[in-house]
Amino acid sequence: SMASPALLMRVVASAYSVAEKAATIVRNVMSTGDLGIVEKAGPTDLQTKADRLVQMSICASLARKFPKVTIIGEEELPTDDVTEDLIEDGHCEEILKKPCPAQYTGIKEEELVIWVDPLDGTKEYTEGLLDHVTVLIGIAYGGKAIAGVINQPYYNYEAGANAVLGRTIWGVLGMGAFGFQLTEAPAGKHIVVTTRSHSSALVNECITALNPDHVIRVGGAGNKIIQLIEGKASAYVFASPGCKKWDTCAPEAILHAVGGKITDIRGNSFQYNKEVKHMNSAGVLATLRNYDYYASRIPNTVKESLVP
Ligand code: AMP
Ligand code: MG
Ligand code: MG
Repeated sequence: SMASPALLMRVVASAYSVAEKAATIVRNVMSTGDLGIVEKAGPTDLQTKADRLVQMSICASLARKFPKVTIIGEEELPTDDVTEDLIEDGHCEEILKKPCPAQYTGIKEEELVIWVDPLDGTKEYTEGLLDHVTVLIGIAYGGKAIAGVINQPYYNYEAGANAVLGRTIWGVLGMGAFGFQLTEAPAGKHIVVTTRSHSSALVNECITALNPDHVIRVGGAGNKIIQLIEGKASAYVFASPGCKKWDTCAPEAILHAVGGKITDIRGNSFQYNKEVKHMNSAGVLATLRNYDYYASRIPNTVKESLVP
């Protein structure tokens, strides 16, 4: 008989369904019109009822199935009991049928760390820029991002009533990434994608130094990685602290699964073990192709201003 699927594939298959449940919550909260906005560090660092409910849903659902996995979520929440209606116990059959890459077949629960951003692009969510929003579930092993799920709850929301609303992108290192059409950015054009609501003088100085043909300013780390893998932008450049491990873990796994590269602005790779500092203090530089072109043009003054 068939051996039971490897733990990693069971976790990814469950994370897929948990992320789809999360997307339903994100859409339901918006449709009630009561977002329950709370300021965290300030007016550009927000939490809504959707951030809270989705984090409870994702963390409780995954913890119930995989009790020895470390799960780290963005939001600090009271440890109230989670109501049963927030629990998702399903999984994606199609993912379970795929063979686990050989190097990951022996992974044990206690060796995995799951980084959860229940709602990435909260500022944009509150402003009605709904397709900037993603739900991020990143899976790390040995300090590396090895698998990830990105759900975009409002994908297609401007495409008309006949279009299917929302999508789920997932990937595993050594296997590839699925749920979208991998597309390279136009050859010879330098299109930079960066923050919309967390700009600074240094962020702009860095972009100017790259002399891009075009700059796209949109919310969300997940959304910006989607821009790279769908050929809308050639580099994600963010010369600032502010982005955290839960913002980059799932995007990193998916980008690396299709041959891209993400580091901080100084070229250091990110670590995702459970003890690591949450803040990506030295910013973000990511590309699908031509990483070295951008990395070699980041000014030393910018690098020296960002301390890892
Ligand atoms: P952005 O590109 O501005 O959407 O940022 C990507 C992710 O990093 C989002 O989850 C933001 O909330 C977070 N982030 C970036 N800069 C900051 C900041 N200055 N304060 C709080 N969160 C930030
Ligand atoms: Mg985020
Ligand atoms: Mg968030």
